[in-house]
Amino acid sequence: MSTEYSPPLREQLFLLEHLNRWDELFSLAIFRHADAEVAKDVLTAGAEFARGVLAPLNAAGDEHGCRLENGRVVTAPGFKAAWSEFAAGGWPGLDMPQKFGGQDLPLSVQVAFAEMVNGACVSFGMMPIMLRAGGRLLLDHAEPALVERIVPRLVSGEWGATICITEPQAGSDVGRLRTTAVPRADGSYGLSGTKIFISYGDHDLTDQVIHFVLARPPGAPAGTQGISLFAVPARRFDDGSNNGVSVSRLEKKMGLKASPTCVFNLDQAVGWRIGPEFEGLRCMFTMVNLMRLEVAIQGVALAQAATDRAWAYAGERLQGGRPDQAPTPIRAHADVQRMLMIMQARTRAMRALVFQTAHWLDLARAAPAEEQRLRARHMAEILLPVCKTCGAETAFEVASLAVQVFGGHGYIRDAGVEQYVRDSRVASIYEGTSGIQALDLLTRKVLKDDAARFRRLLETMRADVQWHRATPALATLASALEDAIASVERCTTELRGRAATQPRAVEWAATDYLQLIGLVAGAWMWLRMAAASGSGSAEDRERRRLAGFYMQWLLPQAAVHQARIALGGACELAEFD
Ligand SMILES: Cc1cc2nc3c(=O)[nH]c(=O)nc-3n(C[C@H](O)[C@H](O)[C@H](O)COP(=O)(O)OP(=O)(O)OC[C@H]3O[C@@H](n4cnc5c(N)ncnc54)[C@H](O)[C@@H]3O)c2cc1C
Repeated sequence: MSTEYSPPLREQLFLLEHLNRWDELFSLAIFRHADAEVAKDVLTAGAEFARGVLAPLNAAGDEHGCRLENGRVVTAPGFKAAWSEFAAGGWPGLDMPQKFGGQDLPLSVQVAFAEMVNGACVSFGMMPIMLRAGGRLLLDHAEPALVERIVPRLVSGEWGATICITEPQAGSDVGRLRTTAVPRADGSYGLSGTKIFISYGDHDLTDQVIHFVLARPPGAPAGTQGISLFAVPARRFDDGSNNGVSVSRLEKKMGLKASPTCVFNLDQAVGWRIGPEFEGLRCMFTMVNLMRLEVAIQGVALAQAATDRAWAYAGERLQGGRPDQAPTPIRAHADVQRMLMIMQARTRAMRALVFQTAHWLDLARAAPAEEQRLRARHMAEILLPVCKTCGAETAFEVASLAVQVFGGHGYIRDAGVEQYVRDSRVASIYEGTSGIQALDLLTRKVLKDDAARFRRLLETMRADVQWHRATPALATLASALEDAIASVERCTTELRGRAATQPRAVEWAATDYLQLIGLVAGAWMWLRMAAASGSGSAEDRERRRLAGFYMQWLLPQAAVHQARIALGGACELAEFD
């Protein structure tokens, strides 16, 4: 039974070359110093690093976990050495500015690398994202002195970073956070409070950790309007002594066991404000949005790793067939085929969507014309909650199917697939639960204002339908997508009609609405992937077959979502009225 990790480099390169058009991307001014060949070499080396250095840590890290010793977190064996190698290789800063030691490559290249890191060892993958997202946060919102001091050390991997939002009484309801930030005479602040569930809140991979903390200055208004954002070093910059930050607990978790999840206390910890007073949450969204994209690719990574294991096992495991003949590999059974095809079709659709969203984020930053940048930003904004939620759910559901393909052996730890179920479960919870993402998509990005983002999404999908319907081999796929887009439009019109008078019905519909958009966006990606595949190679033929399977087998689920959206909360139990 193969337990090796095989990075999905070929499929990634296909997407980057044909769907994301990286030749066009590398013609943009900020990426012109590199080209597709450079990016390909980087990803090839990244694949080798993920396979050779990170994958061997995965099962051992899960078994060993982290431990709290004298108030300090000790990570699983091998993590520290792997981090040193990761930092020395320049991996933390692929898409960070060259000026600060990074490589200024597109985010879409970074996302491809992140898939390989997370597919090899997701607990390790939790660490670097916060350095990059925290670095971007500083670049976008902090004073130059703070940027100069911190960003180069995050880019080099010399320092770690965390995102500190959650408190015991403030989970999804961030506005209830109580950590205080009292101004000090020198312009800094003294922060006090308790933060919970902080990933890599302490560890032994780096000597310094910068905590990005949301807190409330004295006299702040209640709710999210009274929150500011601070950079708080774990150890003082001047003498390296403890800065009033202490870990009081290391959580025991269902999965992600080698990623330390900490409760920590701030006791007059010295921090510096990032961005204007009371605009902390708005600024923090630079970090949150990058992390949501990362969670989406985490999902793809785990789904692909689980699919690969299941595919290999299904070719080796012999069961069934005529009793007078040798048993057949289970891969030959229709029901096993069904599971494997669902896994492939869903995972690859999600990868294409996440890569495409990263591409729009690149264009939102780098496209030459204002209108191009705005369009790309709108596309990324509407698709980000869809990527995050559907990426997370794809991972869990695909990992669960992988266990099913393995049968009883999948339930036993040695096979290594049950770890994917446990590791992926949290992705629907952190960085905004699926329920909160669904409300964000529907109420803020679709029903609010003139729904410009939503209209752009539909226009873009319809343009592809128009373009491809004339090609005979694609006409059926295009027509299935066209019907599904019409269904999205009908649901949206219906919800818009109810928004003012039946807000509860709209809330009931939100999750199905997000899942409907995710399903249809997946169909759109398959149309594009089929269009970019000839019919010559086996890979091309497989893509076209999976595209047809997605449209015929998975897309009909759109009708179920539509029916539930129409129902709203009509079946709600009387006690909740
Ligand atoms: C392993 C792990 C790592 C984490 N890492 C970090 C980290 O590094 N930094 C950090 O700050 N936090 C971190 N978190 C915290 C995580 O972001 C929160 O758990 C998450 O935001 C949800 O908050 P909660 O757990 O309090 O759930 P709650 O907010 O209590 O939600 C419980 C349920 O109620 C639903 N719900 C809540 N409010 C509403 C509403 N208004 N409308 C509809 N439904 C609602 C939710 O969708 C959910 O299903 C981590 C959590 C875990 C488990």
